[in-house]
Amino acid sequence: MRSHLVMIGNGMAGARCIEEIIKRNPDLYDITMIGDEPYPNYNRIMLSNVLQGKTTFNEININDWDWYEANQIRLVSNEHVTQIRLEEQQVITDKGTIVSYDKLIIATGSSAFILPVPGHDLEGVVGFRTIDDTQAMMDAAGQYKKAVVIGGGLLGLEAARGLLDRGMEVHVVHLLADLMEVQLDHAAAALLKRDLEKQGMKFLMEKKTTEIYGDERVQGIRFEDGTSVECDLVVMAVGIRPNVAIARDTGLEVKRAICVNDVLQTSDPAIYAVGECAEHRGIAYGLVAPLYEQAIVLADYLTGNPTTGYQGSILSTQLKVAGCDLFSGGEIHPCENTKAIVVQDECSGTYKKVLVRDNKVVGVVLYGDASDGTRLFSMLKKQSDISEFTNASVLHKAGEESGLDVASMSADETVCGCNGVTKGTIVGAILEHGLTTFNEVKTITKAGGSCGKCRGMVEAILAHTLGDKFDASAEVSGMCGCTSLSRDEVVAAIKEKGLQTPKEVRNVLGFKNEEGCSKCRPALNYYLRMIRPDEYEDDKASRFVNERMEGNIQKDGTFSIIPRMYGGTTSPDDLIRIGEVAKKYNVPLVKITGASRVGLYGVKKEDVPKIWADLEMRSGYAYSKSLRNVKSCVGSRFCRFGTQDSLGLGIRLEQEIEMVDTPHKMKIGVSGCPRNCAEALTKDFGIVCVENGYQLYIGGNGGTEVRQCDSLTTVTTEDEVLLMAKAYVQMYRETGIYGERTAPWVERIGVDTVRRALADQEQVASLAARFEHARDTYAEAWGEALIDDQRKQLYTVEKR
Ligand SMILES: Cc1cc2nc3c(=O)[nH]c(=O)nc-3n(C[C@H](O)[C@H](O)[C@H](O)COP(=O)(O)OP(=O)(O)OC[C@H]3O[C@@H](n4cnc5c(N)ncnc54)[C@H](O)[C@@H]3O)c2cc1C
Ligand code: SF4
Repeated sequence: MRSHLVMIGNGMAGARCIEEIIKRNPDLYDITMIGDEPYPNYNRIMLSNVLQGKTTFNEININDWDWYEANQIRLVSNEHVTQIRLEEQQVITDKGTIVSYDKLIIATGSSAFILPVPGHDLEGVVGFRTIDDTQAMMDAAGQYKKAVVIGGGLLGLEAARGLLDRGMEVHVVHLLADLMEVQLDHAAAALLKRDLEKQGMKFLMEKKTTEIYGDERVQGIRFEDGTSVECDLVVMAVGIRPNVAIARDTGLEVKRAICVNDVLQTSDPAIYAVGECAEHRGIAYGLVAPLYEQAIVLADYLTGNPTTGYQGSILSTQLKVAGCDLFSGGEIHPCENTKAIVVQDECSGTYKKVLVRDNKVVGVVLYGDASDGTRLFSMLKKQSDISEFTNASVLHKAGEESGLDVASMSADETVCGCNGVTKGTIVGAILEHGLTTFNEVKTITKAGGSCGKCRGMVEAILAHTLGDKFDASAEVSGMCGCTSLSRDEVVAAIKEKGLQTPKEVRNVLGFKNEEGCSKCRPALNYYLRMIRPDEYEDDKASRFVNERMEGNIQKDGTFSIIPRMYGGTTSPDDLIRIGEVAKKYNVPLVKITGASRVGLYGVKKEDVPKIWADLEMRSGYAYSKSLRNVKSCVGSRFCRFGTQDSLGLGIRLEQEIEMVDTPHKMKIGVSGCPRNCAEALTKDFGIVCVENGYQLYIGGNGGTEVRQCDSLTTVTTEDEVLLMAKAYVQMYRETGIYGERTAPWVERIGVDTVRRALADQEQVASLAARFEHARDTYAEAWGEALIDDQRKQLYTVEKR
């Protein structure tokens, strides 16, 4: 006979523990779970997102009713356990159900703490803990106008943001001078407050609530200093209290929470406690990451798997409020033996502080750009020695780049903090199970399954592991997983609503992931610059790494440098300089590229800007989504078959079209006669010179999916070719999906659509004018980088 395992509580930590037990040995126990909420197990974390309208209650289920049945779990829901009878090994619920156990796990979590001030029991005073609390807030927002949230911590701010989103006027009351004082220092807290005020949140700082007044329903709050504020809804977000009443009544050892040892066993050997209701080595945790670690240890122990026991956790926090990108982990305030590395950029509103002790990271506070959070937190958790690191832009390993660079992450680095999933686990699952989408990775590894903050990184790992086989759009109909809006809807909204920055776009259009993902970050940067060439300032950080570095990173971490050679032409002087530079910097490979230019390969990172400076040549943009090159034959200048000056035309085209961003890379070919030595019929834009003019072709591709061009039209002069080329490129820029080559673009919008548009002289002129206008806002990349100290620092390989 199987022994009977009973769990009190059907929340996040408890259900995770049961999942892990079943995963290890599905036949070991008969399992009963008793929960007092009338729902199956759901993702409590996501209640903030439900309140903010980003998701629905249905979408936050972790396990639906069928899961219990499928795993032969008896679920007693909507019943509250009121008593544990130790001697009889039984639990009893408020509805009289009696369940016997061999082993009992208490996973009762916490309740929202309600300040015991007069009026706390008035109608309209709620905590923020459950589906029912969230529903009550949503109902109130539909009927009333003014809300007060007491508590400027993580939960309070998420609640306040949700109520703002639902149209309420919201005051946040906070006892102290800084918001989120447990997770942020003064500087970061000030930036957070400034950003939230911009979003319309109002703050009453350093206020102690003494009374909530009203007749039946709340009408306002009074403070110790005699002031007051009116409201119709009060949300108490002043902390949580572990649910320990039954444990205490039973006589188990309870301090702040139920005391457990390293295998989560209470003072009664048959009873265990896990989650927020458990106290381990004096700490009761309030975030899921440590609770899931506990759940795994307990599952190992109860199934007889080896375990080193739970050793405690270091916590990290993020805030689920759009437009406030923050990360905090470990120690916050410096003390005598810590040193702080602080970088603050007032223009962009970013702040980074790393606390270091004995050459080890002990604390991280990031505000405005939290993309380095995972990496720094991993260094903190691993207690890595950082003597090899530069502190120039907050602790990057000498020679490495910042941000969401999954390629440089080590396999044991944590990607999903909530579920403790490492990069190695994700890559292993992708390869072993043939996973291709974020949702598949989430199902198999649980990465991204809780707060969802790591979705962008999981997608970046998918892209890095699968290369071209990864299609982030495969599982969503929208532009990316962060939104259900299509590319066209996003572009239209940017224009109609006058949105100016990626952050604003994500904010106003309610993107689920407020930092965006690896798909929408570069796409929004592209669309905004395409729509507002004059005003929008390029956000380099959201571009792919090769574009940020203005060179392709090779597989050994070195770089390639490919200077511009218009139409494939060069000069003796340029060739001599290239040779001298190659010698001076010991460049391992000098090669004629497939795009008819000379490439330097295997360049060391720190040599990259020095070589640009020594070469004195323009960038060939061999790494960018823009015109790569114009391949031309010698044409009538030298070839006896040449009908026109294809070389001169190629040079002009390249000079006029270079640098400008396009949805994907573009190649142009110009052949001097139909023998087509420049392979113009497989280019994005192809020109074949003939006796009486120039035949124009569009939408070709010579890559993995070869596509022969469609014919566009024939024109008679070089100037007309240039005009048509600009109009065509601009049409592609304005209607292409970011990441879409011209071949699928032409097929998607229809060759005839392009032909019709480019047969209309007025439209051609206006498209070409818009292209020229945009082009005038671009500066040559290497020259620009060389005069920008911050950008040059990207190539610094300094040691501490
Ligand atoms: C709005 C919100 C946002 C959050 N955001 C984050 C975040 O971004 N990151 C993060 O890490 N954490 C976050 N948290 C905290 C996280 O949700 C909790 O740490 C986690 O849910 C705790 O899991 P648990 O199983 O211990 O408790 P719970 O998930 O609370 O589960 C306990 C369950 O037991 C039930 N129960 C209690 N007593 C009894 C009884 N006597 N009989 C029967 N059933 C009982 C409770 O009703 C509840 O259903 C958030 C919490 C909230 C409310
Ligand atoms: S395409 Fe024609 S003109 Fe150009 S090199 Fe070949 S044969 Fe000569």
